[in-house]
Amino acid sequence: MPTLKYKRVLLKLSGEALAGEHKTGIDPETVAAICGEIGTVLEMGVEMALVIGGGNIFRGLSGSAKGMERSSADYMGMLATVLNALAVQDMLEKQGYPTRVLSAITMQEVCESFIRRRALRHLEKGRVVICAAGTGNPYFTTDTTAALRGMELKCDAIIKATKVDGIYDKDPATHPDAVKFDSISYDETLSRRLGVMDATAFALVRDNNVPIIVCRMFGGDIRRAVLGEAVGTIVREN
Ligand code: UDP
Repeated sequence: MPTLKYKRVLLKLSGEALAGEHKTGIDPETVAAICGEIGTVLEMGVEMALVIGGGNIFRGLSGSAKGMERSSADYMGMLATVLNALAVQDMLEKQGYPTRVLSAITMQEVCESFIRRRALRHLEKGRVVICAAGTGNPYFTTDTTAALRGMELKCDAIIKATKVDGIYDKDPATHPDAVKFDSISYDETLSRRLGVMDATAFALVRDNNVPIIVCRMFGGDIRRAVLGEAVGTIVREN
């Protein structure tokens, strides 16, 4: 077994990641590919909690922009994360990895409820804990969920796997001269307004000094991040 830098990690995926080229919905081939990447990490003995967004199906803010009551729209967003959690659970188990979906909103016919001690037990037993339904509260995001669950499950790092290979000083999609950071402090991330996570999530992580690693979803980056190799961008105290 290789030496792990981070034994227990919280992996955050956006909902859009599951949609592949389509932007919306769930693309089974993309989900299979993501689960393949996750599998290589699990094979090393890493304990993993997973938070998946819901933006490929529904975002509260876009619902409220169209006139819906914000809380109702946010509950729809939270339910969207449950759909994604079940899709990833199904695929991970097809690939041979045991999982549990733990939802912040009780739905006992579908999955377990999120109970911290139960989640910890699943992690210790090598099951992937998929944290569904966000924090269970409107006006929050799945970034905040990732920060919260990362903290309460005592994860050694939060890995935010994205399409981009790290944090840049400006948007690399529109600025060819954008420069990538290998490492950056919490304070500089805030002062440069780099928008790694929303402000609530970021404050929570900073106050508790948990490193955030932003890296690509594919190409073995998550595996390398867990091994402590220089990959993507790491946000931590100086
Ligand atoms: N959401 C919420 N409370 C939470 C987490 C999520 O109300 O604790 C809702 C919110 O409406 C959000 C949606 O769920 O827009 C989907 O989550 P998010 O936008 O974070 O997903 P992502 O952008 O990562 O796909």
